Amino acid sequence: MTPDVIVVGAGFAGLSAATALSEQGARVLVLEARPGLGGRATAFTDPATGEAVDNGQHVLLGCYRETFAFLRRVGTAGDVKIQPQLALDMIDLGGRRTRLKCPKLPAPWHLIVGLLGWDALRIGDRLAALRIGPAIDGARRRLALGASVDGLTGSQTVEEWLIAHGQNARVREMLWEPLALAALNQPPQEAAAATFVRVLAEMFGKEANAAAIALPSAPLDRLYAQPARCFVEARGGSVRTQAPARVHVDRGRLSHVTVRQDRLEAPIVIVAVPWFAIADTLPDADAALEPLVEAAGRLGSSPIVTVNLWFDRVVLDVPFLGLPGRAMQWVFDKRFIFGEQASHLSLVSSGAASIVAKTNDEIAALALDEIRQAIPAAAAAKVTRTTVVREKRATFSLAPGEPPRPATRTPVRGLLLAGDWIATGLPGTIESAVVSGHAAAAAARELPCAQ
Ligand SMILES: Cc1cc2nc3c(=O)[nH]c(=O)nc-3n(C[C@H](O)[C@H](O)[C@H](O)COP(=O)(O)OP(=O)(O)OC[C@H]3O[C@@H](n4cnc5c(N)ncnc54)[C@H](O)[C@@H]3O)c2cc1C
Repeated sequence: MTPDVIVVGAGFAGLSAATALSEQGARVLVLEARPGLGGRATAFTDPATGEAVDNGQHVLLGCYRETFAFLRRVGTAGDVKIQPQLALDMIDLGGRRTRLKCPKLPAPWHLIVGLLGWDALRIGDRLAALRIGPAIDGARRRLALGASVDGLTGSQTVEEWLIAHGQNARVREMLWEPLALAALNQPPQEAAAATFVRVLAEMFGKEANAAAIALPSAPLDRLYAQPARCFVEARGGSVRTQAPARVHVDRGRLSHVTVRQDRLEAPIVIVAVPWFAIADTLPDADAALEPLVEAAGRLGSSPIVTVNLWFDRVVLDVPFLGLPGRAMQWVFDKRFIFGEQASHLSLVSSGAASIVAKTNDEIAALALDEIRQAIPAAAAAKVTRTTVVREKRATFSLAPGEPPRPATRTPVRGLLLAGDWIATGLPGTIESAVVSGHAAAAAARELPCAQ
């Protein structure tokens, strides 16, 4: 039977689009090239311990509105544990541990009071940190009016923008650098400021818990990929894995999709693949699509490296800790996050271009050295197992001068795009992927050929 919509790619973008359309009664066919679903947000079973291990810790924020809507749709929003409001434990390079905790007050007072009480900073530094307030407030107001914040920063990098707004070296090291690396996956010296300002406007928006950290309490495949598959299949759709798709266009019109020798047809195709897979997915891009394929080919990537460590005892007393100023900027204890079936720590290096080419042994030694210096309990503990996960193209580059991100609609009628790299204004995150997936589903419903 001919599907109403074919979705190519089963990451957050493709599955959020597919479930939104299924919910509206469309018959959806999802095609995924890999044997498993989930793309860059997935999990695997560690062969030695049998534990479920994410391909990298994924952190959600209270402001991930569309992601939570997607998880509610597939019935797993309860598998994400969210803080009541932002609270971060940090250990600085000198080994001093502090806690930034924003009280339950309306914006911007939660941030102001939180920063004023944060003893990682001297009083003068705390006051300096507050000088960012008017810039965030201005961006927040523009967003509330539906305006873009892009023009507020010119061609500045995140670091240049922070300095221009009175943020000194200590405030940048302790607060903004770990936050920017986590949100943008690129060092503040390299990423353009515009997307960071958008993130700040979202995080420190009206709701007091918009900046709160939310951690999935289930491995990523169980959090969303399998439930999304069940959701689509229960509504008459289907999901095929090991199905690398090619979308064919003929004289500016959507023609058909092939999976190896199979020829498939649908009036609407949503291509929800990453920037680096676009050229293979649209092999006969004509003049109308050529600029899209060419720009995607020029878009840079930024890596994430994760080191999973199994110790012979418990070494953390909180689910996660910030380790500013180090290669591994955050450490997560999966025992707190997944429960007793997990026993490993995940150390995350975002914007990891400087270490991604090192050997596994070198990366593991670096991670171990950093955690042992920061956490005395880790210094006394024995490591029983180590794994290193490299995601070389974890997210697209946000550096100034990168090609513009494409829109949902293409010049080819019936051919729509989704993916975290589509022009959502957000960095390469789950929320950007889901915003793009929902936008593609909405655009599909508006096409006259849709049901
Ligand atoms: C290690 C790591 C940590 C991260 N941490 C966070 C975090 O803490 N918070 C956060 O918000 N975000 C985080 N991200 C980013 C987040 O994972 C991505 O933004 C999001 O998963 C992208 O989803 P997507 O659907 O756009 O793309 P993808 O997940 O890449 O999905 C695209 C899918 O398309 C498939 N595909 C490609 N070509 C074809 C084809 N021709 N036919 C069929 N299928 C095809 C791919 O196999 C893939 O499954 C992290 C990413 C990584 C790698």
